[in-house]
Amino acid sequence: MPVIEAGAAIVRGRVLFERRMPAPLNEYYDVVVTPGFSDTHAHPQVIDAGIIPGVTWNNSYEWLLTRRMVIDEASVRNDIGLASSLAGLTLKRALLEGTTLIALTGSFDANIKAFVRLKERPRTVLLPTVMKKRGWATPNGVADAYRRYAKYARDDFLRIGVFVHSIKYAGRDMLHEAIQLAMRIRGPLGIHLSEGVPEKEEFIDSSCCLDNVRVVGVHCLNDDYSDLGIRCSSCPGSNLLLYEKYVPSLGRVTSFGSDWPHFLGTIGGQIGLITELYRDRLSEALFKATVGGYLDYNLNYSGDLVAFDGSIRDVLSGRVKPRLVVVNGIVVVYDGRLVSTGESLGDVLKALDEVVDYAVEVHGIGEKPVKLGLEDAVERARRVRRASVRSEAR
Ligand SMILES: [Zn+2]
Repeated sequence: MPVIEAGAAIVRGRVLFERRMPAPLNEYYDVVVTPGFSDTHAHPQVIDAGIIPGVTWNNSYEWLLTRRMVIDEASVRNDIGLASSLAGLTLKRALLEGTTLIALTGSFDANIKAFVRLKERPRTVLLPTVMKKRGWATPNGVADAYRRYAKYARDDFLRIGVFVHSIKYAGRDMLHEAIQLAMRIRGPLGIHLSEGVPEKEEFIDSSCCLDNVRVVGVHCLNDDYSDLGIRCSSCPGSNLLLYEKYVPSLGRVTSFGSDWPHFLGTIGGQIGLITELYRDRLSEALFKATVGGYLDYNLNYSGDLVAFDGSIRDVLSGRVKPRLVVVNGIVVVYDGRLVSTGESLGDVLKALDEVVDYAVEVHGIGEKPVKLGLEDAVERARRVRRASVRSEAR
């Protein structure tokens, strides 16, 4: 069997040197990460976060009520061609950034069509969003769609569950319906939890019969859900940009989500931010950024790896992009390009710009959305860390 030789390897979060590992081809790379990065929460249809320069919010409910949108989110979701293009670009970007597993919320129809159409894709978890708001799906609607698409969910590549937007926007009855649905389809249930407000008591009070359901809470900024057996996908990038906060205690985080892959990149692209925030617990952070997502969604990671040319410092700071990406033993990115189409990360980002221009034209008020990126999140991470060190010293 062919082997990849690596000067250094990050294996299940541990940094090791001079490794040889089975792979589909005989090659040498400076650094290999196995499995690849996992991104446990991404909104592929979000191209406008309603950011107001200079403004931060206290919590998600406040942000959703007072943000300034220049593109109509519901129209983007209902434009199935556009919504599906955005999902397709997210999946391609994920691979080119070394993200070998990604969980997508939002439009089920758009996301699964993108998944089916692509030749190369990461392991994908589809969590269609349900809430009581005009234009959004209900658990019954997801159940109908699931019947149409369940045939694709047969292997270790595609897992289908449901995503409850939040306790407030779904309500107790819809949360119960979604739990029942997750149990019926044996899929995971995702939910935004404690995004700036304590919600643990309310969640315990509003949910029931969770014993047989895998729950992945997203954000968990204010509460620790680990004693309830609930996994926690932390999204430090968007949390820093919206609230200037992140979860400082890695112990209650099980994995990381990008939240806004079009602004911030997927978790493979955000590894510099994660290592900046958790540099004191690097191995644990790397475990959660790689294996963590596979454990959250109970997916196999055998045959998944990402390889780089460059120093381990360059890889961990996000300065170099993957040369090779392998999913389930199959090469999907070679020499930094998708194998079937030859597209590079630059090509995908250019295509994204064109799609966003179209969305501004057709679904917007003629202005481009305010775009805060990964550099802004890293800058805030440094500031927030400095402030917390200062307050500890006092
Ligand atoms: Zn989210």
